[in-house]
Amino acid sequence: MLDLTAEIQKLKREKKAVILAHNYQRPEIQDIADYVGDSIELSRKAMQEKEAEMIVFCAVDFMAQSAAILNPTKKVLLPTLGARCPMAQMLTTDEIRRAKAQHPKAPVVLYVNTLAEAKAESDICCTSANAVEVIKSLKAETVLFGPDRNLAEYAAEKTGKTIIPLPQWGFCPTHLLFQPEDVKVLKQQHPSAVVMVHPECSGEMRKVADFIGSTSKMCRYAKESMAQEFIVGTEEGILHRLRKENPEKKFFTAYEGAVCPNMKLTTLERLYVSLKEEKHLVKVPEAVAAKARKALERMFQVN
Ligand code: SF4
Repeated sequence: MLDLTAEIQKLKREKKAVILAHNYQRPEIQDIADYVGDSIELSRKAMQEKEAEMIVFCAVDFMAQSAAILNPTKKVLLPTLGARCPMAQMLTTDEIRRAKAQHPKAPVVLYVNTLAEAKAESDICCTSANAVEVIKSLKAETVLFGPDRNLAEYAAEKTGKTIIPLPQWGFCPTHLLFQPEDVKVLKQQHPSAVVMVHPECSGEMRKVADFIGSTSKMCRYAKESMAQEFIVGTEEGILHRLRKENPEKKFFTAYEGAVCPNMKLTTLERLYVSLKEEKHLVKVPEAVAAKARKALERMFQVN
């Protein structure tokens, strides 16, 4: 029988590939990856990668696109072609153009969870880790922001600025599954547990949170906190990393069903085939990439 882990390691060496995996990937994908992180950590890794000839991005479409935009000299592979983020599909370039025409003075801040064509229409990108800092860095008091409405509301609370969401209803289907009632039950079972919530969750979930932040911020917070137990309000894949980095602490998901099916499409088998056959190559036309790159690079200048 084929030892997939050994074969992937062999192919990785032969092809001078680096494997990047998002925090929401399956445990076995996280374990075989060279780097595990959230979208900003992985984008930075992809941008700074010099040695490797190939970047295999175990995540969803927009993240692999960002890698291809930020490091156009490398081959970027997305192991599963169907691994698409539904939130990224929610914002069209037409909608952005219409909003720009209506609010010509408002800069467009786009969450990285957007397709390259949308990014090309923006002034600056952000991730859930730096959305507040990015918006604070702008002089404008009114900002167009998309596609996640919950992140838009959270950023408005934190910055005091007027944030116009694009579209009005953008959301992550996985983070929408979290409900405060479940957290209350878990708190009864684990009264000393700290509740960590991702800003893609609803406002009701933010109200029951002790800590709100991106997955990279959750990892840092859990490591530095004196607390021994944590209830985690984000996609369940993060629990693998949290438990690995903090073996003495306990982590509970705030909802067992909080699984992103798109993130879970990447398996060891698909990663192996992708490396072996060098598919699926992610290409962004340079005219689009050049504009999107500016928005992404501007984000990196903020922090
Ligand atoms: S967790 Fe939500 S935002 Fe992230 S890839 Fe899945 S659907 Fe998209």
